[in-house]
Amino acid sequence: MPKPLHEPVDAALIPRFAGHATFMRLPAVASAEGLDVALLGIPWDGGTTNRAGARHGPREVRNQSSLIRRVHPVTGIAPYERLAVADVGDLAVQPIDPAAALRQIEEGIARICAQGALPLSVGGDHLTTLPVLRAIRKADPARGPLGLVQFDAHSDTADRYFGDNPYTHGTPFRRAIEEGVLDPRRMVQIGIRGSVYAPDEHQWARDQGVRIITIEEFARRGPDAVMAEVRALMANAPAYVTFDIDGIDPSMAPGTGTPEIGGFTTREAQAMLRGLAGLHIVGADVVEVSPPFDIGGITALTGATVLFELLCVLAENRAEAG
Ligand code: MN
Ligand code: MN
Repeated sequence: MPKPLHEPVDAALIPRFAGHATFMRLPAVASAEGLDVALLGIPWDGGTTNRAGARHGPREVRNQSSLIRRVHPVTGIAPYERLAVADVGDLAVQPIDPAAALRQIEEGIARICAQGALPLSVGGDHLTTLPVLRAIRKADPARGPLGLVQFDAHSDTADRYFGDNPYTHGTPFRRAIEEGVLDPRRMVQIGIRGSVYAPDEHQWARDQGVRIITIEEFARRGPDAVMAEVRALMANAPAYVTFDIDGIDPSMAPGTGTPEIGGFTTREAQAMLRGLAGLHIVGADVVEVSPPFDIGGITALTGATVLFELLCVLAENRAEAG
């Protein structure tokens, strides 16, 4: 039975700058019960290795998302006509104890999965994706390890930081592979660039079978060819999509903790996100938006737009699946 739908506040009636900020001006609801897609924030940046601030991401992305209208300009998809979507708020994550925070995030996502909704979240730093993946993986063990489509300047498959610490935003996907949460042969990382600690820094990931598409390769081939490869690699198997905002060039997304010059543009990001159509997506996120380093809200607006593109792909895929 279809679930009751929600519509954003109409900006033609009540101006965008008025009212409480929620994701896409959707209703704020107490739980994910009755939703197809739960929009949520994970305001935690305790895994950040450089400049912090992504804990403030969800609130600012909510604010900027008031600009997003209800219909996709290219596909004509009106996601709120196809999916029951609302803002379930932020996970209650304390900022002091990383182990406790990871537990709280996993429990929060497990709850959303148990309520039958797909989590579409805004971080937070990229370590927040690890407990999200753990929860989604456990929610349906029969499904097996998940695929991953990762837009990012960084591979995030390092091993240890600051001595012997296994949990930072530079390590989540190594941990997820080790834990059997992700299937490395169905992982693709797009936009990888920047100086490294050692020439073989990405070798461990490559040895596991992770497909790393550097920004140089992306520049040669373009978004359409790259996404055709991604779709072939993922086929119909369950996959998670994670969008680190630092994949985009810092001239267009300066508000982030670990900027790397020479990234893809916002337009290329949109083209790639539209290329996710047809994938079996089991969850998605936008991470590493850090408002204290933002200029004029441009990075938060980019994050909000990425969130909308993801939502529209989910709606499109739902329609194709019938
Ligand atoms: Mn990352
Ligand atoms: Mn990154």
